[in-house]
Amino acid sequence: MIVVMKHGASPEQVQHMIQRVEQLGLKAHPIYGTEHTVIAAVGEKRDEFRQSLESGPGVAAVVPILAPYKVASREVKPEPTVVRAGSLAVGNCHLGMIAGPCAVEDLEQTLSTARAVRVAGATALRGGAFKPRTSPYSFQGLKQAGLEILAAAREETGLAVVTEVIAGEDIPLVARYADVLQIGARNMQNYRLLEAVGEEGKPVLLKRGPSATLDELLLAAEYILNAGNPNVMLCERGIRTFESHTRYTLPLASVPWLHERTHLPVVVDPSHGTGHTNLVTRMAAAAIAAGADGLIVEVHPDPESALSDGYQSLNFQQFEELMSLCRRVAEAVGRKIGPYS
Ligand code: PEP
Ligand code: MN
Repeated sequence: MIVVMKHGASPEQVQHMIQRVEQLGLKAHPIYGTEHTVIAAVGEKRDEFRQSLESGPGVAAVVPILAPYKVASREVKPEPTVVRAGSLAVGNCHLGMIAGPCAVEDLEQTLSTARAVRVAGATALRGGAFKPRTSPYSFQGLKQAGLEILAAAREETGLAVVTEVIAGEDIPLVARYADVLQIGARNMQNYRLLEAVGEEGKPVLLKRGPSATLDELLLAAEYILNAGNPNVMLCERGIRTFESHTRYTLPLASVPWLHERTHLPVVVDPSHGTGHTNLVTRMAAAAIAAGADGLIVEVHPDPESALSDGYQSLNFQQFEELMSLCRRVAEAVGRKIGPYS
């Protein structure tokens, strides 16, 4: 349920109500909005305590949260969340453009890509050091050496680093180098991993599982939020359907659907979403038109020789063309692509 504080409730009254909620064995998530401060009270048997909270000092109302996800819902926080990590800002009027190789392969490949995408206007660098591969015989990533390369690329270009963490035991190592922890599609419902990145506190890019519903995506985000980390970006990266012309099916209606129900920013991945280089740019533009708060795009100096996902990667010139088209589309729908100070 949501404890809505009166307009002008004092900080002491808010603090008092946070303590009351916690004394009742519920978790309190205060949200300081422009109009009201509200405290989301989540946990089991929360409705039993409604009356006793209603009479608290400075309380305007106590209302149930109807959505199954609580802290992620617009009911609790009507204002859009902006997630910031170094050079990257995503949400509300900020469009984040994350680009880079599927996997970090070597220093030169990553550095040259970081330089090229930065010049083209990317606001963050992506690159996997720990790769979740379908086959155990495929390239698994450079692991710590890959993280060091990403940090060197950030050092030179100033771009924030977005990289995947695939196991709880790797979180301290990955968090030491990354600005944003990516939870991959295969791990969207790995609830212990979600709680652990929630506790770690670094911003998280949470990818939709290929067979997960949007409610399940929001509930996965809820695990991270409930563990105390408010900086979650959702990522639509395509789902598995009967269609076989594209690697996955990229349902862009999820962007406005999610925006109606959650304050969290929504990023679209047109690379995994299509699986074909020649489809990426137009789906990126379509995502911006649909209201996406950002894109994550695979770029490689020589896609043909890439160790993973070359068939869906753009070369530098293609990424420049993507940025140029997305800029025009953004402007047409009243948005602007960074950089932001
Ligand atoms: C990736 O971004 O490289 C990746 C593995 O994506 P996903 O988890 O969406 O398959
Ligand atoms: Mn990939």
